[in-house]
Parts: sequence; C-alpha cells; structure tokens
Amino acid sequence: MSVDQGAGFATRAIHFGYEPADEHGALTPPLHLTSTFAFDTAEAGGEMFAGTRPGHFYSRISNPTTDLLEQRIATLESAQAGVATASGMGAITAVMWSFLSAGDEVITDRTLYGCTYAYLRDLARFGITVTAVDLTDPAALTAAISARTRVVYFETPANPNMRLVDIAAISAIAHAAGARVVVDNTYATPMLTRPITLGADIVVHSATKYLGGHGDLIGGLAVGGAEDMARVRLVGVKDMTGAVMSPFTAFLVLRGLKTLQLRMDRHCASAATVAAMLEAHPAVAHVAWPGLASFPQHALARRQMPGFGGMIAFELVGGYAAGVAMMNRLTLIRRAVSLGDAETLIQHPASMTHSTYSREERLACGIADGLVRLSVGLEDAPDLLADLSRALSPATLEAAA
Ligand code: PLP
Repeated sequence: MSVDQGAGFATRAIHFGYEPADEHGALTPPLHLTSTFAFDTAEAGGEMFAGTRPGHFYSRISNPTTDLLEQRIATLESAQAGVATASGMGAITAVMWSFLSAGDEVITDRTLYGCTYAYLRDLARFGITVTAVDLTDPAALTAAISARTRVVYFETPANPNMRLVDIAAISAIAHAAGARVVVDNTYATPMLTRPITLGADIVVHSATKYLGGHGDLIGGLAVGGAEDMARVRLVGVKDMTGAVMSPFTAFLVLRGLKTLQLRMDRHCASAATVAAMLEAHPAVAHVAWPGLASFPQHALARRQMPGFGGMIAFELVGGYAAGVAMMNRLTLIRRAVSLGDAETLIQHPASMTHSTYSREERLACGIADGLVRLSVGLEDAPDLLADLSRALSPATLEAAA
C-alpha cells in the first residue's frame, strides 16, 4: 500500500505515489526512457489524444517517471497537481505563457533572480506590462494593483538579498483584485515554506537546486490547482515552450527528494553557525540570513518559515574589492553559481547571476556592488568556518584595500 497524504513529509518524499508490486517489486521507481507509447488499438490512441482515456502517449506530454515526480512535489507542496519542466526558467516561462495575454499586467517584487528579471523585461515586446514594486510592503501592492493585473510574482526568500514576502498578506490583496499569485520557492523548498497553504495559487521551482540537491541536473517544477496545471502542461509546456523534463532528470530529482528533509536540516544548522560567525567578524559589514535576530524581517521569518535555510548574503567592510579578495582566498568553498548543492558555493551576484540588471536597476533593487552570496553546503561546519576565517584574515583584506 503506497502512503497517503496523511503521512509525514519525509515518508511522502520517499514513498508517495509508488508501489513496488506494480513494477516487478523494484524498490526504486523505474526510469522509463521512452519517447512514445504503443496503443492497443487506433481507437484507444484517438481517445487518449481526445483526453477521454487515461494513459501516456508521448513523453512531451507525460511519462510515468516524470508523472511520479510531479505527484511527489505536489504532495510535498500541498498542491493538487504538478508539472515537471526542463529547467527552473522553463517552469517560470511555461506558467507565464499559460496565463498572460497582450494588455495584461504582471506585478513583481523588486528583487528577482537575474534571468527571471530579464525574461519579464522582455514581456514588454508582447504587449504585457511588468511593474516592479516593493512586495515586502503589502500596502505597495494595494496601491499598484489594477483590474489588468493577472499575476503577482515573487521569490521568498529573494535571490540574492534574502528579502521575505508575507505570502498570506500578498495573496489576500491579489485575490481581491482577481490576480493569480505565483511564488518561486526555490530558496525555501517545501521543507521551509509551503506557499499554497498560505494562499498562493502556483509555486515554481528550480529543481536544479535543493530538490535535486547534488548539482548534477538542470530541472524545474510547477505546482498548483489541477485545472491550472493542466493548462500549464498543455499550453505552456506542450505547445509554447516545449520545455519538458527528461525522464532521466525526473529519476534523479526523485532520488534527491528522498533526502530533502535530512539535507535541509543540515543546511539550516550549518548556515546558522556560519551566519553567526560572519556577523561577529570585524571585516563583515552586514549579514542577511532570516534566522538572525538582526534580520529586518526576522519576525516574519519566524511566522512563515519553520527553518531559515542555507542561503546567506553578506557584504564586507571593504566592499567589492575585499569581497573579491576573500573569494579568491577560499580553498574549500567553491567559486560557482547555482545553490543547494552538497558543496558550499560562493558567488558575486552583481557580476554573475544578476548581471542582467543595469547597475542602477540593481542598486534600486537592493543588490549592492559588493554583495556576496553563499550557499552553505553539507560539509562539516568547522571546516567551512576555518576556510572563511582564513579568507577573511586582516592580511587578505589589507591587500585588497
Ligand atoms: N529561480 C531562482 C530563485 C533561481 O536561483 C534560479 C537559478 O539560479 C532559477 C529560478 C532558474 O532555474 P534554472 O537555472 O533551473 O533554470
């Protein structure tokens, strides 16, 4: 008997939707590497295309391995259904193309992942208005929203500066105006925030990050109501983007999900240690991690998140030059973009992940020139502290001055 919705988070992440007896007793769900599926009869094929008979017929629309992943992420996010995509950008764009038309408006938070920002800016070419407001202040949404607003879109915590958005407050305002709320939950994962339970309509993920968890794939997921997800599958993915997830990637994400809870617990615990060390260091000007009492939205973090995640943003007293010198002195922590991997990764948003913003736009969005982003991995925390302490030594920073 496969587990039901009432089972715990880790139990569902390991068992939900799968019964070994249905697959020759195979403990691990099989990888169905097939593009197409043979029909018993021509009539059966026609019925599947018409949607009157269940079944798989072509892997751009559905595949048993991908299907299982979609069921698992849906249960973990407390959603009715899910759709797997080729990348996080595939999920974001497939959702947007499914619900937007010329003349519509999207309201977003000011801080967004760089490629999301670039995509939304491009929507102007299609007659869609995108308005960025400070969604950390719900009153700003009340002031900006109109009958044309179809989607309210944000990340919480936001990449890279960690700003949080009050999902319940924003959803109430958006729904009163008839808009859908779409949340990028990549940083928090369903372990630390479940936006649907707080009123959001659709959640998108870069599965490349914590959900896959091992830095060996590119993938995306969207979850939400059954009707919305049918539209995302048949319009956004099947016809408009074609950004379908490969079954092999689905197999890897299913494997990653089995340890999501264990990994997130470790990411959170190590990030707490690293954030405290950085905050106490004289070379560090400020640290943004939602679990710190000094974090401006700490009260919201405590209300909305059962744990504070593995992502930290910080700036050094010596600004950009000191940040670069520090990054170049690290020997264990890797200089790389992406996040949520076993390896601790450090990068410089202004010149890397958020270089799609102009400098003026970036500064207006609270992404300073010297901001450094750290994805705390699964190594032993004392080794991470030692690497950072060495790189932050006065000699390094004086050399940069
Ligand atoms: N959303 C966030 C918050 C991200 O950090 C990223 C990638 O870094 C994406 C979306 C895009 O995901 P992908 O690289 O899987 O397309």
